[in-house]
Amino acid sequence: MIEILTPPEVDRARRTGGLVGAILQDLRARTSVGTNLLELDEWTRSMINDAGAESCYVDYAPSFGRGRFGHHVCTAVNDAVLHGLPHDRSLADGDLLTLDLAILLDGMAADAAISFVVGNSDQPESLAMINTTERALAAGIAAAGPGARIGDLAHAIGSVLSADGYPINLEFGGHGIGTTMHQDPHVPNTGRPGRGYQLRPGVLLALEPWIMADTDELITDDDGWTLRSATGCRTAHTEHTIAITPDGAEILTLP
Ligand code: MG
Repeated sequence: MIEILTPPEVDRARRTGGLVGAILQDLRARTSVGTNLLELDEWTRSMINDAGAESCYVDYAPSFGRGRFGHHVCTAVNDAVLHGLPHDRSLADGDLLTLDLAILLDGMAADAAISFVVGNSDQPESLAMINTTERALAAGIAAAGPGARIGDLAHAIGSVLSADGYPINLEFGGHGIGTTMHQDPHVPNTGRPGRGYQLRPGVLLALEPWIMADTDELITDDDGWTLRSATGCRTAHTEHTIAITPDGAEILTLP
């Protein structure tokens, strides 16, 4: 089922999105060489609590994970890309970190992710990958609006990823979102224009282009959650929740 939210519900989702964006911005500002992934998790827990919100992750127990996630933010370092379970690990200069955060506030969920390089070391290949996912996300958002089809967004995202030479994994992509974190429709990171569900105002989508430098194959870490590149190469991931509006699309997860 695809939820169509009323304008007051979209307004509530806008507040959730603003909180997700603000927490990610704050986490990024606090992250430096030596920051431990468990500290990031604890900061996130505290900010979610202070806002009177709830984590979508703590009790999340989907078929692709092992038991409940049990933490408040996904922390994926270097070759890790999705569902990164926080561990007792301190970040080093030049690490590529992805933070993925979904929370529920006043009955509405929002979901976003950022990738960035920790510290000051020069990491041109990592920065190029991050830039590619950001441009792919912008292209997907630009293609979104009433009347557009999921295939149009998928094609826009995939065209940027492919043009930059990255293989595309089709197992995990974007998704509908609303009163819960993961809903239909699935939004693959490449596709054919003119195909799929036709968007209308009130639909919320989380678009999330992610790439691995030289493979489309994932392996699951021993922790049962973290997905890594099969070759050990670096990865990047950028995500926003957007609302389809009468005029186009609005990003909800800006700070
Ligand atoms: Mg998501």
